Amino acid sequence: MGNQEKIAFSIRKEMVQSNLKRMRTVAWTLMYVSAIISLIHYGEVFFVKAERVMVPVYIAIHIAMFYIDLAVLLFVREKRIHITTFNIQKYEHLVVVYIYTIMLLITAISVMDVYFFHHAALYEVILIIICTVFALPLRKICWIILLSAPAIIASALMRVGMSSDNIKVILPMSLLIPISIIIQYQTYKVRKQITTQHILLDEEMNKTKQLSEQLAVKNKALAEQAFKDSLTNLPNRRAFNHQLITIGHQLHQPQSLTVMMIDIDYFKKFNDYYGHLQGDAVIVKVASLLAEIAERYHAFVARWGGEEFIMISQHTEKFAEPVCVEILEKVRDLKIPHEQSDVVQYVTVSIGMCHANLTTYAQLQTCCDLADQALYVAKQNGRNNYFHKMATFDEKVNASI
Ligand code: GH3
Ligand code: MG
Ligand code: MG
Repeated sequence: MGNQEKIAFSIRKEMVQSNLKRMRTVAWTLMYVSAIISLIHYGEVFFVKAERVMVPVYIAIHIAMFYIDLAVLLFVREKRIHITTFNIQKYEHLVVVYIYTIMLLITAISVMDVYFFHHAALYEVILIIICTVFALPLRKICWIILLSAPAIIASALMRVGMSSDNIKVILPMSLLIPISIIIQYQTYKVRKQITTQHILLDEEMNKTKQLSEQLAVKNKALAEQAFKDSLTNLPNRRAFNHQLITIGHQLHQPQSLTVMMIDIDYFKKFNDYYGHLQGDAVIVKVASLLAEIAERYHAFVARWGGEEFIMISQHTEKFAEPVCVEILEKVRDLKIPHEQSDVVQYVTVSIGMCHANLTTYAQLQTCCDLADQALYVAKQNGRNNYFHKMATFDEKVNASI
């Protein structure tokens, strides 16, 4: 269902609900009235000697009205009614059928009243009240006129041959149409107001929805930024720590893990000689090379800080050493001039690596520290190389996160 359709349906639903409510109110009133009048006429039949014409028919009509109203009260209960697009028409028809039936019966009573007892005005007034009560939510004027038509015709018929009672019949009848028009106008105004409110509400809701979507996108971007290094686009130290915790949670039985600390050699000298901007460009190049290698080996790489990177992989020891060699080679192959380097004339890196079979997060952290220590050794050993520290943990030690 589109938005406009939804609005139209909810307005229609409100109308039907209020109609059903009115129908029950009218049914309550008429049920009591019919019961009382029936009893009065019963009394008349039993206690008044002089028999009046048509009293049994009169009583029968009132009893019929009583049962119709009783049925409405028993079967049309607001709490039980669940209006949907499929049954809304059924309820609209129910209201119209009820009005017609009641009006027909009242008209019959009116006709009898005027014809036999010459006091129609009371019923005509009841009829007008019912007409107007129901006319209120029935959207078109033609409905109101249609609803009042039987009564108008009946009164027109009664006029023939009637004299003093004419005015009693015609006066309330003549009021019917202006009353209906006023009520219809009021209904139209209320309907318009409800529609405008619905549309405004809908627009507001759409705006809020859009805003919350935009906010969600921005939040996502911000969250991503918080875990990304702005220079290299690699995950940052925070992201790495997160990854470490995630891996730590999955450590239930000994797992083979390798941590590599990768550091650019003589980078301070590079910066001093080539300038900071050139230095940044080198960090970016090394970072994208590492990202490419990590992706190939399903490893996780992050910028640890400055010109240092950290890589973690769940591969076996066999993976680790050839990857170290590959990183060293590929960085050299970038052939970024570094005249100040004491190793070669190009930018190089040193790697500290630690491999272990781990069972706890604490061991994982120790592994990172050992990789850092191994890096120091690699630097001591002349740079442009890697140093491997093997960690062995007592499997009985079960430190947890
Ligand atoms: P070593 O071979 O022992 O690693 O020597 P090094 O000069 O590389 O190490 P050191 O830790 O002394 O210097 C690191 C330098 O990296 C210092 C700092 O100016 C530079 N650096 C850190 N972060 C950045 C960055 O984001 N951009 C640039 N251009 N330089 C950076
Ligand atoms: Mg360095
Ligand atoms: Mg460093």
